[in-house]
Amino acid sequence: MAGYKIGDTRDLGYCAACGNVITIEANNGIFRPQRCGNPVKLKDGEWLCGSCLRKLRVKYPQDYKPDPVQKAIMPFESAAGLDAAEARRELSAAHDHLESLREKYGFHQAVFLVEDVKKEKSGFLKAPFITVTGHVIYGTFYPYDEAACGNAGYKAQIIAFETPHGGLAVNEQTLRRWKPHDLISYAWVDGGEEAAFVFRDKSLNLKPGDVIIKD
Ligand SMILES: [Zn+2]
Repeated sequence: MAGYKIGDTRDLGYCAACGNVITIEANNGIFRPQRCGNPVKLKDGEWLCGSCLRKLRVKYPQDYKPDPVQKAIMPFESAAGLDAAEARRELSAAHDHLESLREKYGFHQAVFLVEDVKKEKSGFLKAPFITVTGHVIYGTFYPYDEAACGNAGYKAQIIAFETPHGGLAVNEQTLRRWKPHDLISYAWVDGGEEAAFVFRDKSLNLKPGDVIIKD
């Protein structure tokens, strides 16, 4: 979707919105390839830098779609449907949009909307692994955050983030197999990003449409 590869040295020119030189982050494990900092090609062929793209994501959330070439579900930026003039207009309104979202959700620090819940049983008497996929409405979540889950505000701790639509059930074995690179890729999630939160909790009860709130 993006029209470049991580570590690409092709000249992509300047950001259509802020005018900065577009850089592509190297796949060296310090950055989060594909998830932040990388540019996106707009509808009219101009490029938007990663920094501008992140500001737009609260209104144009990241999505995942099946990629027929890679035969996998890959990240897709809905902001790629804008042309350069539209992107500039939306960026100038991005701050007001964020403020209206904060007001709508009661000025919490960060809000996540649940779209899918998968439970994976653990050993005898052990708490199950619960993978909750959805979108960050705004704000930033980190692993080990305590968050209020669902209508009753039940508090649970996010133990890790998983690749959205990763296809593998999260359990002790898969967590142990994670490479440092995976951990950095999902060291945090920001507004407009699709994410999968992993909980390990006996009493957590979430359903699509619920919100997870951090204060
Ligand atoms: Zn920019």
